[in-house]
Amino acid sequence: MTITSIRNDKSRRVLELGHEDGSTVEISHETLRSGCRCSACTATRRAGGAPAADAAIALELIAPVGVYGVQLTFSDGHNKGIYPWQLLQELAEMQAA
Ligand SMILES: [Zn+2]
Repeated sequence: MTITSIRNDKSRRVLELGHEDGSTVEISHETLRSGCRCSACTATRRAGGAPAADAAIALELIAPVGVYGVQLTFSDGHNKGIYPWQLLQELAEMQAA
């Protein structure tokens, strides 16, 4: 489904994605941070670890990356992650499951 809106709810620490049919899904900031696919976090994951994310992590900034997706900046200063729309959908489905 096409994502038509994206909203950062800082008080609840969730990212809300809106779809063209009006439905919405939420992804917690913690899930977003631990789902980062940047080279450093991917290397950590390949080594059997997990990117550092705790329940207090917060998403600070959302920057558009063309039509491709968004770049997210977190409260721990991490801003290397590019999140394609497809990845956001996957994280939302993973969290819902
Ligand atoms: Zn990362």
